[in-house]
Amino acid sequence: MRNLGTPDEPYDLIGLGFGPSNVALAIAVQEIAPDRRCLFLERSPDMRWHEGMLIDGTRMQISFLKDLVSLRNLTSPFTFLQYEKAKGRLEKFVNLAEFRPTRLEFQDYLRWVAAQFADLVRYHSAVRAVTPVRDDDGALSLFRVTATDTTTGEVVEYHARNLVHALGGVPRVPEAVTLGPTVLHSSAFLPTVPRTFTDHDREWEFAVAGDGQSAGEIAHYFLDRYRNSRVHLILPGYSLRATDNNPFANEQYFEANADDFSSRREENRRAWAASLRNTNYGVVEEGFLDDLYRLTYADEVRGRTRLQVHGDSKVTRAGADGAGIRIGVESRFGGESQVLRADGLVLATGYRRRLDPTMYHDVLPYLETDGDGRPVVSRDHRVRATEELTCGLYVQGFAEATHGLGDTLLSLLPFRSKQIITAIAKDGGSLARAFPPARPDAGPDAATLGALIDRCGSGTLVSACPGEFPVATRLPLVLDRHRGRNGVLFGVLDRTDPQLPLLDGGKVLAVFQPDAAPPGEPQAGDPMSIDVRGCARLVTDRDRLVAHLARVGPPDRGPAARAGGSVGIEIEIEGLSGRFPLSPEPRAARAESERQP
Ligand code: NAP
Repeated sequence: MRNLGTPDEPYDLIGLGFGPSNVALAIAVQEIAPDRRCLFLERSPDMRWHEGMLIDGTRMQISFLKDLVSLRNLTSPFTFLQYEKAKGRLEKFVNLAEFRPTRLEFQDYLRWVAAQFADLVRYHSAVRAVTPVRDDDGALSLFRVTATDTTTGEVVEYHARNLVHALGGVPRVPEAVTLGPTVLHSSAFLPTVPRTFTDHDREWEFAVAGDGQSAGEIAHYFLDRYRNSRVHLILPGYSLRATDNNPFANEQYFEANADDFSSRREENRRAWAASLRNTNYGVVEEGFLDDLYRLTYADEVRGRTRLQVHGDSKVTRAGADGAGIRIGVESRFGGESQVLRADGLVLATGYRRRLDPTMYHDVLPYLETDGDGRPVVSRDHRVRATEELTCGLYVQGFAEATHGLGDTLLSLLPFRSKQIITAIAKDGGSLARAFPPARPDAGPDAATLGALIDRCGSGTLVSACPGEFPVATRLPLVLDRHRGRNGVLFGVLDRTDPQLPLLDGGKVLAVFQPDAAPPGEPQAGDPMSIDVRGCARLVTDRDRLVAHLARVGPPDRGPAARAGGSVGIEIEIEGLSGRFPLSPEPRAARAESERQP
């Protein structure tokens, strides 16, 4: 067994998987924190992206400008346009006047970027287990990652202070379905179907389950390439529906709106996600639906019907049966389930996101989970954990419930990778040295500390650039007790403040030093300080800024925000501690004794 990234010299981060999310992270590491030691483990022999669905001619559903980095850094050497230039196609691409490249070309772009980080990736590495390692102080400060080399069978161990999990979704397959060469999930479509159904003239009976983009593209593929086939499309709704691509709804995939989403209450987020579902899930791009309909109409003209839609239905069972397969279909409205016979079934039923319970067996007990058993993920994409687990587990694409529908998509990758590497660089570097962790709510009770913060008005905000010394600025800050687990500090900065880029998405320490003590508290002159550790983020949306100000109510700051020269800063409080001498007896008892003659 070889040891790389030893406990004595661990990696700052190990990325699990090297798909688009972690390729974007590799770019961000190079551009934002190049001194961090990182490694990526990928099971495939090279970088792959939904290869099962790279059907010829299918297009991206977003603009090429939503590549891995452009929206964060237009001057990066890893943009899609840099790729076009490197391939000698830039002018031709511009000549196409096409915002949405084919998926095949986008995959080529992803591979072009990935190739430039080849020295940071171990391909053929299948991660088997992640285990927290206890240090001499009793903290679980490192992760051990055990991986198997898929070519040699060798088991390799790596150690890291942080992991970034980006292994993608798992195919959603009903329990009573037995997969095989003729019953498959859409993720295995291209590697399987052309090889299994070689005769393109035969009168095949195909079935497709689902109503999303994958189902639409697969139904079209069958009808187009197997000219005598019939296709049964089994879908949960009344009919296929078009993706809501309107630009207003699409604004939910903006960075600022993802921030807004995650700041809402849970029931609010659920309702919002449900109303926006048709911008992504269970829908087919409108132009593609037209193509599919034209194809079926051309069949009608020839006097045959080849697409049969079974609406309000779901596939519940399926398996091989003699030469064909048997498919159990249940109606949404109850009643007898019907049985369909076909030669092939493709489940275009989407994906589930969860942390593999076997891989994370030793880590799961330390992770915070929500009512539905999902890990609770902070705004910087770190899974919240018990205090004992001080190494960081970050996830990409596993926080849709708290971070919005964009969490599983490409749109936000440039921003997310920045948030993650900024947090990691600060946690593992100068910030960790500058701000040793405090127990949350340590010292006097949180209510006392909160009251003192209210009275202070201003705090000194300390942040650190990766690899550099902390920098500090004094800022008026108010405490909003109604948001976040421990409250949220809110303040307003000038847009030109040079601190801005250093504060965004990072860990900060706010130090409050009340100058005069309230009755019953230490008297003026006593050394007093309240430390608030938290995670900062900027609020650039003017309406939100004004709304926040109205809620927390510092009247003098409203006009400044309305004038447009301001940016809000929110600090979600993670830890709160006070350092000042309280008398040994409880405050209430002391007040009582002071009234005695
Ligand atoms: P999807 O949008 O999640 O759609 C899967 C659908 O299958 C859901 O509506 C689901 O309904 C339904 N379903 C689940 N179980 C079923 C069953 N047993 N029988 C019948 N229907 C069932 O999945 P997708 O189409 O694979 O798309 C996933 C993502 O990939 C989307 O973001 C999509 O835009 C993207 N994509 C992009 C392209 C492209 O860029 N060209 C191509 C393909 C996919 P319930 O949720 O009600 O269970």
